[in-house]
Amino acid sequence: KFRSGLKKTANILKTDVRDLFKSEGRLIDDAFLDEMRAILFKTDMGYDGVEKIVEEVATKMRGRVVTLEEVVATWKTKLTELMSQDDSPIRFAKSGPTIIMVCGVNGAGKTTSIAKLAHLLKSQGKSIVLGAGDTFRAAAVEQLTIWSKRLGVNLVTGEQGAHPASVAYRAVEECIATGAEVCIVDTAGRLQTQKNLMAELTKIQQSIRKLIPEAPHEVLLVLDATTGQNGISQASNFTEAVDCTGIILAKLDGTAKGGVVVAIKQQVGLPVKYVGVGEQPEDWALFNPVEFVNALFA
Ligand code: GDP
Repeated sequence: KFRSGLKKTANILKTDVRDLFKSEGRLIDDAFLDEMRAILFKTDMGYDGVEKIVEEVATKMRGRVVTLEEVVATWKTKLTELMSQDDSPIRFAKSGPTIIMVCGVNGAGKTTSIAKLAHLLKSQGKSIVLGAGDTFRAAAVEQLTIWSKRLGVNLVTGEQGAHPASVAYRAVEECIATGAEVCIVDTAGRLQTQKNLMAELTKIQQSIRKLIPEAPHEVLLVLDATTGQNGISQASNFTEAVDCTGIILAKLDGTAKGGVVVAIKQQVGLPVKYVGVGEQPEDWALFNPVEFVNALFA
């Protein structure tokens, strides 16, 4: 899954790295470090990530003639270290249903990611209720309706324009009443003002907590990998509005800037939990730094 998702990024990296090493080995000097820096920047790893890798190579290898394999091995080790995180799939409630809130701007891949998450949890034998909380977009509700039928999961919707918090409340209520194990609540991705967003997400959270005080157990933020660094600046709008617990990075397959995962890790400080690598429910993988780095240099 990572290999297919990172194909575009890996292809460009491979060509660039080959160009960096036209001969058997290269002297590691400032010129080399500059060229290397430019390659890494192209993948959207972000300033901090790139500089940490450059620093590592400089410290270990400056003044020596080294091979492509040696340099790439150092990149891989450092990258894995930069992205290391606790293995963090969904944290389930110790007892009772697990409530997962999903947020993100329109078009980021929120609806598709909800479908993928539902598909994964269902394949693990969990019973699921979806809450179509993005009541401002008829298309989002329609999309979720289609997915819920296709996946065979229960969906709670509201009238168009109904408050997302009321839909979230009813979805959690339905989850409790039917003894379902997981409730995934969609939220509206409108971003006109930070105040609106904050008020809305807070209300959703409060309405869920009326039924289950310690919920939501996860608040996942969907980011679009193809927007690279812009997506990261959007992330702060959400992390300031609500306590996000992790990132879903959608559309990794659609970009040659797969290094954005490193930037997210460095700048947003939340674990990347899942990545989307296509449009179908099964096109999705639990994030794993080692597999990610191996695919990046495949
Ligand atoms: P939303 O507006 O945030 O709910 O976004 P959608 O889930 O409707 O996704 C927007 C578009 O991106 C749709 O055409 C999806 O099929 C597509 N999409 C979502 N996730 C992925 C992904 O991981 N890979 C690819 N290639 N496309 C995706």
